[in-house]
Amino acid sequence: MIMPRLRPKRLLFALLFLGLALFVALKTHPVQDWLLNRIMSRQFAQNQAALFDKSAMRVIFCGTAAPPPSPGKAKACTIVIAGGKFLVFDAGPKSAENIARWRLPMPKIDGLFLTHFHSDHIGDVGELAMLSWAQGKKEPLPLYGPDGVNKVAEGFNLAYAYDQEHRRTHHGAALAQGGGLVARPFGMADAESRKRHDASAVVYESDGVKVTAFQVMHEPVYPAVGYRVDYGGRSVVITGDTAWSDNLIKHANKADVLIAEAQAETFRRPMAKTSAEQGQQQIATLMRDIRSYHITPVQAAQIADRAGNPILAITHQGPAAPTNWFMRDIFMRGVKRKSGDVKLVDDGDMIILATGAKTISIDKI
Ligand SMILES: [Zn+2]
Ligand SMILES: [Zn+2]
Repeated sequence: MIMPRLRPKRLLFALLFLGLALFVALKTHPVQDWLLNRIMSRQFAQNQAALFDKSAMRVIFCGTAAPPPSPGKAKACTIVIAGGKFLVFDAGPKSAENIARWRLPMPKIDGLFLTHFHSDHIGDVGELAMLSWAQGKKEPLPLYGPDGVNKVAEGFNLAYAYDQEHRRTHHGAALAQGGGLVARPFGMADAESRKRHDASAVVYESDGVKVTAFQVMHEPVYPAVGYRVDYGGRSVVITGDTAWSDNLIKHANKADVLIAEAQAETFRRPMAKTSAEQGQQQIATLMRDIRSYHITPVQAAQIADRAGNPILAITHQGPAAPTNWFMRDIFMRGVKRKSGDVKLVDDGDMIILATGAKTISIDKI
């Protein structure tokens, strides 16, 4: 068969013509409006109903960084969806935007649980309450935490008082109900439990979902807690911020997944050294001090080993979150675990634990 000869000039003209036609079409209003409608209908579709089916517990990472700037990562935030409940643990800066961007149904949030009151864990509390209200939540967002959480709730309610007033004035009946936060303190701030370092309490129980708060070691930050969530025979444990803690090991025992913070010494040491060399003494001091109240990736793995070997998901990656394989390799130096048993998680990662089974799978939201 004789192939027709390719004529480069004609082909070039045809491509140019097509490109020009497409450009002209994209500049016409009907085509623009049609495309915009398609984009919007995708953005507003809350196609997340499958996340709420009761045959699994799901963990979604809505923030995986520590305080220093980390492009593409929000600060501390973990979502657990189980038994139809939508629970959020910590709301660090930018985490509310992640949750909104993923089109998760924010009015369904049943509770926000704080591990402690450092800014990288509470920066978006106000935004999370505002967005869930603006999108249709008809009662204030319950804010769970150890004693002191009342003050945090009051503070955000005060800071957002004008915002609520202005939105109610503008939108009327649509926003008449709900808004703001209601504190649900559960104690754990007394001097005796500080000394013993063994306090724990069931702080939420509904439709087969049980949340247990337990004291961790983030001294001089006190109170500071971690959480264990049990549902359908599966369990996940969130460490919050902590140094080595026997109480954490006790409550992580036989959990399926340990969601651990970690500050890598391989990053902290050079960050402290170079900031001092460059005359940034205050940053150097902070870099020195943070060592005392966090665990390293190596310690997180050791805690997992002692707790019966759950899958280890490392979040709150600090002092800076690694951004490529080279940095991840340095961050995880010394961690001796099989590759399937440990994961340095990113915003948008999701762990799925089927109930009544032993399977765990990892996906993206
Ligand atoms: Zn902290
Ligand atoms: Zn923190």
